[in-house]
Amino acid sequence: MKTTRREFVKSAGTGALGAAMARPSRPTPAPGVSEGDAYDVAVVGAGVFGAWIAYRLQQGGRRVALLDAYGPGNARASSGGQTRVIRMGYGDQEIYTRWSIRSLELWNALFHSLGRSSLFQQSGVLWMARGEDPLTTKTVATLQRLGVPHETLGRAELDRRWPQIDFGPNTWAIHEPESGFLIAFHAVQAVVQMAKAKGVEYLEEAVVPPEVKGRLGSIATLSGKKVRADVFVFAAGPWLPKLFPDLLGERIFPTRQEVFYFGPPPGDSRFGPPAMPVWVDFAEEIYGIPDFKGRGFKVAPDRHGTAFDPDTGSRVVSPETLSSVREFVGRRFPALKGAPLVGGEVCQYENTSNGDFLIDRHPDSENVWPVGGGSGHGFKHGPAVGEYVAARIIQGGAPDTRFRLATKEKVQKRSVY
Ligand SMILES: Cc1cc2nc3c(=O)[nH]c(=O)nc-3n(C[C@H](O)[C@H](O)[C@H](O)COP(=O)(O)OP(=O)(O)OC[C@H]3O[C@@H](n4cnc5c(N)ncnc54)[C@H](O)[C@@H]3O)c2cc1C
Repeated sequence: MKTTRREFVKSAGTGALGAAMARPSRPTPAPGVSEGDAYDVAVVGAGVFGAWIAYRLQQGGRRVALLDAYGPGNARASSGGQTRVIRMGYGDQEIYTRWSIRSLELWNALFHSLGRSSLFQQSGVLWMARGEDPLTTKTVATLQRLGVPHETLGRAELDRRWPQIDFGPNTWAIHEPESGFLIAFHAVQAVVQMAKAKGVEYLEEAVVPPEVKGRLGSIATLSGKKVRADVFVFAAGPWLPKLFPDLLGERIFPTRQEVFYFGPPPGDSRFGPPAMPVWVDFAEEIYGIPDFKGRGFKVAPDRHGTAFDPDTGSRVVSPETLSSVREFVGRRFPALKGAPLVGGEVCQYENTSNGDFLIDRHPDSENVWPVGGGSGHGFKHGPAVGEYVAARIIQGGAPDTRFRLATKEKVQKRSVY
């Protein structure tokens, strides 16, 4: 049964219409701001987190508006890449293994209901390791405990199964045969398509940074709209520091990340699925996704790049990174030595201090939720994040300590991969 707006809002205080007007130094909405519609929840940002949050809130009976400045899965968004890995292995960070398991179920259910099952490619994921490797050893233990299908393979078996890979100093690996990759921006658009079909109202609007002092009654857009709601979720990924400069300016670190696509030799199927799995070489902080539909063999350093502005940062890959990635590719995949670059992407991670997500109420307002900090591994978890945030908003209750703002420090000490 759908609750009334009054029942739904548990926190005290009156709605303050107009409280979200821009500060003088920020972009101001056009004159003649309209009164706007009222929703149970307004979600700002239709990346993977916002799209799933909006959809799950709608499924929970809420009237939801979803707003995005550039469009779902746009080229500037962190969710805007061609592909994203979905793996279950997370060392001993069991919550993320559980969320990956749950998310894969929900991704598959969504794709199936839309008749778009190919948005998940079950290529398998190969996690390479060298000797005594605590992270990989802990990963095996977690996968075993949670019953995730996996194999632990020694060097001889790796060489036999994947002769197109020169494993170099890697001596063993975990293989997750049921994991793989998601066709990322299409997947986000699929979530929004489903959410809209079920009644979420999508608005392509840029939201002005809100003035958060007590309960927020409405947000304003650059075009002059006003959107009223009982609860506001800001799932703006790398834009969170721009929306909340005082709160998050020093707690979310957007970094420049480069992605390269190499063209395998003509007629050579060894670098696409099913011959090639997703692979991760943790010791060299680099990973890749097989050549899918001729788009190229993707290789991306996972090391954090320099600080990056998601609106205006240059999206042209650098010759320096290209040359170091080429050198790695030539070593690990000898048949791709000197392969032509057929594409490149520059995206940004939106890192928290340690890689744990941010899911919390704004300290100055009970009805404002900043959600983000995907930290280079968030995409796969979109469905679980949506479920978790919707449950906190609908049922109440505090988020896990690891997601709280209080645990987000101002220096980066990455511990979640
Ligand atoms: C190169 C790269 C590789 C990655 N690889 C993986 C991977 O293999 N597996 C994995 O799980 N994760 C991966 N990630 C991480 C993952 O993609 C991100 O954590 C995730 O996409 C973040 O989603 P988000 O919804 O928080 O942010 P975003 O996708 O950035 O969405 C935020 C949205 O907010 C909108 N917005 C911002 N400001 C406003 C405003 N003022 N008004 C209205 N709208 C606004 C933007 O337009 C945008 O659409 C990778 C990231 C990158 C960059």
